[in-house]
Amino acid sequence: MSAPNVPAAELRYAAPVPPIPEHAAPPSGRVLDRRGRRLHDLRISVTDRCNFRCTYCMPKEIFGKDYAFLPHASLLSFEEIARLARLFVAHGVEKIRLTGGEPLVRRNVERLVEMLAQLKTPAGEPLDLTLTTNGSLLARKARSLHDAGLRRITVSLDALDDAVFRSMNDVDFPVADVLAGIEAADAAGLRPLKINMVVKRGVNEHEIVPMARRFRGTGHILRFIEFMDVGASNGWRMDDVVPSAEVARRIAEAFPIEPLEANYAGEVAERWRYRDGSGEIGLISSVTQPFCGGCTRARLSTEGRLYTCLFATSGHDLRALLRGGCDDAHIAAAIGAVWGARDDRYSELRSADTAGLRKVEMSYIGG
Ligand code: SAM
Ligand code: SF4
Ligand code: SF4
Repeated sequence: MSAPNVPAAELRYAAPVPPIPEHAAPPSGRVLDRRGRRLHDLRISVTDRCNFRCTYCMPKEIFGKDYAFLPHASLLSFEEIARLARLFVAHGVEKIRLTGGEPLVRRNVERLVEMLAQLKTPAGEPLDLTLTTNGSLLARKARSLHDAGLRRITVSLDALDDAVFRSMNDVDFPVADVLAGIEAADAAGLRPLKINMVVKRGVNEHEIVPMARRFRGTGHILRFIEFMDVGASNGWRMDDVVPSAEVARRIAEAFPIEPLEANYAGEVAERWRYRDGSGEIGLISSVTQPFCGGCTRARLSTEGRLYTCLFATSGHDLRALLRGGCDDAHIAAAIGAVWGARDDRYSELRSADTAGLRKVEMSYIGG
């Protein structure tokens, strides 16, 4: 099936921020949505640009030469991001992930890391601060990211076979350079390192076992992600999804594995370990086993819109509040009001019909 011809830029319209009660209570450190889920994680997209054109995320036919990426003035500045992050932390956020697009193409992103690394939870603890990257610039940047205060990192890698990897990133980028980035991150102390592999039927499913073989025994946690119907541009079909149960079966045929307890309630990845003690893997089954019930994630887009679901059609315009001169109390109340009204559970409702709905692109709000 060809990708529907919906310009992704059109999907960036903002819903109005819901009215804020006149006497909104200050953040309590534990805001709950309508399904009783707290606000615990914040993903911040620092750019909508990327040097890859992964076919499942930014297909070239849509994100081509004529695609209108956001102008620099539209992006939140680092100061604006840090200010919002502080208010999210006051609402109970303990984990922040920088993403994109490709976060390492945003100039001086280390400076933002440095600012976020200084934030503390209401209990005085440092945040769990991490970043997801395609790894292409990591060999150059791992050390400076660590020095800026980043503690761990997730690298996306869909194949070890160079030809398969080059065709999936669609810019002919060699796998050896990403592997060098992974080594540099490890050497810089960005541990434990997670490696994300999106599995697509007929494209890289034959790479499942070689990837497992390559990373067992390294201390890195390889996580297999079901191909999702994010955005409206990647031509998603259920037939393209390799269910996590099948991934587990294939790995178990090569290396005996057993399930592990979750680290915490609502953990996205189902954890497994190799029986011989050579490490851990994760299965992220957002299609076949939705985890909306425990979803505590908010997403802040590159231009400051707050999305309460990866599959939302619109976000709430926090930048308008920031640039309109609102004080912290007002913006914190807006964040609390948006979260309090949240009722999202897209993955539980997904069907062939919902796959074609207008949704925001992953490169815009971040994975
Ligand atoms: N550019 C960075 C990277 O690739 O790691 C960060 C942004 S990317 C949007 C974040 C994650 O989303 C990556 O691990 C990527 O593989 C994943 N992703 C993108 N499109 C996806 C899709 N259609 N289904 C599942 N995962 C997807
Ligand atoms: Fe870029 Fe990451 Fe999307 Fe690939 S998955 S196109 S690297 S943003
Ligand atoms: Fe959370 Fe939305 Fe994903 Fe469900 S579909 S887990 S609510 S982001």
